[in-house]
Amino acid sequence: MNNNIWIDNLSVAYQGKQAIQAVDLVLREKKLTGIIGPNGAGKSTLMKAALGLIAKSSGDVTYLNQPLKNNQKRVAYVEQRQNADLSFPIDVFGVVLLGTYPKVGLIRRPGKKEKELAWHCLEKVGMTEFAKRQIGELSGGQLQRVFIARALAQEADWFFLDEPFVGIDASSERTIIDLLKQLRNEGKSIVIVHHDLHKVNDYFDDLVLLNKQVIAYGEVAQTFTAENLQRGYGEEITEMLRMGERKND
Ligand code: ADP
Ligand code: MG
Repeated sequence: MNNNIWIDNLSVAYQGKQAIQAVDLVLREKKLTGIIGPNGAGKSTLMKAALGLIAKSSGDVTYLNQPLKNNQKRVAYVEQRQNADLSFPIDVFGVVLLGTYPKVGLIRRPGKKEKELAWHCLEKVGMTEFAKRQIGELSGGQLQRVFIARALAQEADWFFLDEPFVGIDASSERTIIDLLKQLRNEGKSIVIVHHDLHKVNDYFDDLVLLNKQVIAYGEVAQTFTAENLQRGYGEEITEMLRMGERKND
């Protein structure tokens, strides 16, 4: 048996309006999978529903022969950054330490072992010198690295990141994608909601192209085709590619 995540007939509606419809796919373990699609395509919804964070109207998400919800500790989730509360008074080290809580339990406080783990995770993302900094004082790229360190501290097998590269500089993006690739090479499974089409070939092994429904999914080489993009994005695609080119100049 493998450790893939099976998504079967997953649908979500908000106030009666369908956001994703009958999504069927397999997220393969030990791969870097990208979820792409136009604005409002339901990418965040798919991720949250797959993780059991929002209600679904139909479908099953199966991992290790059980509902994924039963194995939530093996999954780390980094939400879209604009949703995070940055006014909360907590320093960088405190945020990373929070990642160890699922193991510690809410009653027992983290001890030496958890603190060492948190420090090691901060090292891994190159942020130890910021340990005492309040999170509200970090740049976008630094913040994203801290959230990844927190996910690492959870010692999960699966990492789900929603638009981790939005609003961060190119060198932070490079650092983060290199780190994620390293984790994948170490046997972790990573799923990323992403919207910069120019990086898709470089970043991902597998791709899900979503527009409410699954337009295509599978290995990047098979799915990232002009025809599929046209089907997923329609008219928008020409403008998106042009914007991407400008950004890469
Ligand atoms: P994406 O992440 O691909 O941009 P979302 O999953 O955020 O798309 O949203 C999909 C659709 O569902 C959009 O039309 C959005 O406006 C709607 N939507 C998302 N979240 C909510 C919500 N909490 N309540 C109502 N509608 C929502
Ligand atoms: Mg989104």
